[in-house]
Amino acid sequence: MLNLDRPETKFAVDIVRQASQLVKQVQAEMVSPALTKDDRSPVTVADFASQALVGWALIETFPDQPLVGEEDASELRQPAEKLTLEQITQFVSRFVPQSTPEKVCSWIDHGTGEPAKCFWTLDPIDGTKGFLRGDQYAVALALIVDGQVQIGVLGCPNLTGGYKPDAEGSGTLAIAVRGEGAWLTSLEADADPYQELHISDIAVPAQARLLRSFESGHTNISQIDYFAQELEVEVEPVRMDSQAKYVLLAIGKGDLYLRLLSSKQPDYREKIWDQAAGSLIVEEAGGQVSDLYGKALDFTAGRMLLNNRGILASNGHLHSQALQALRAIHA
Ligand code: AMP
Ligand code: MG
Repeated sequence: MLNLDRPETKFAVDIVRQASQLVKQVQAEMVSPALTKDDRSPVTVADFASQALVGWALIETFPDQPLVGEEDASELRQPAEKLTLEQITQFVSRFVPQSTPEKVCSWIDHGTGEPAKCFWTLDPIDGTKGFLRGDQYAVALALIVDGQVQIGVLGCPNLTGGYKPDAEGSGTLAIAVRGEGAWLTSLEADADPYQELHISDIAVPAQARLLRSFESGHTNISQIDYFAQELEVEVEPVRMDSQAKYVLLAIGKGDLYLRLLSSKQPDYREKIWDQAAGSLIVEEAGGQVSDLYGKALDFTAGRMLLNNRGILASNGHLHSQALQALRAIHA
């Protein structure tokens, strides 16, 4: 059973809700259809504002627990970024009235902490390309203790009921606590009941629904095709941005999630904040997560999963068959 009275759990749920609201506001007010392809300003504002809010909350609540976040404020402190910093400060001040540009920078830089015995890791906006397209993105926060993810929370503003893309809906909040299961509620009302998440029971690869990145540059398309052929998969894959894919897997709307190594960046290493929250949600829903070679994810190697290559997450039933197909690819 989920214990929402535990201070860390309550903190994680509350702050992911607030950060999700904040980034949703940035999206509503700044992402316009007229945006040019290279205009990353809304995502810059949302990313920094989200990390500032979580950094502030963590300093207030658990000052001794470091934060390992994706962003830092060094560029924002440059004179050329003054206007952007002012915009960020305005958004953050809706949640923290005492915000000033200097304070906002210091809250963002709280996220430059180092992994320790007990620390938090944050992706202030996971799936930035999805955010700009108005598709899926997530605020991802996890607590890691002794190299094990203990709490994972994902806020997915454009996902309803854990699987339906819906920009007008109430959003999805997914949470897992080690030993307490994986749960889902909406981002909005605290009164919403929590629904327990369970993976699918599909055990035949032909019936498996694959979850994969929307962005071709984050994966390897020819290898996905080969993998699907190898397993004789007949079902259309789901292409989706961000760790929202882990929620679909946990709720049984997908069966296999692959992060293959892109041919353009074969040496890419996964960042801990891209996998920590989502992987615990899948495991606590009964699924399995490893790298492409079947190795458990190692969260003790710093800011990246240096000892792992790619990711394979599944409902568990399909894991060994998927690893076998991957061996055929890598052979
Ligand atoms: P997705 O939305 O599932 O495509 O994943 C988004 C995440 O992919 C971002 O948070 C990035 O950290 C990560 N990413 C960026 N470049 C690559 C790459 N070449 N291979 C794998 N992941 C990447
Ligand atoms: Mg990310």
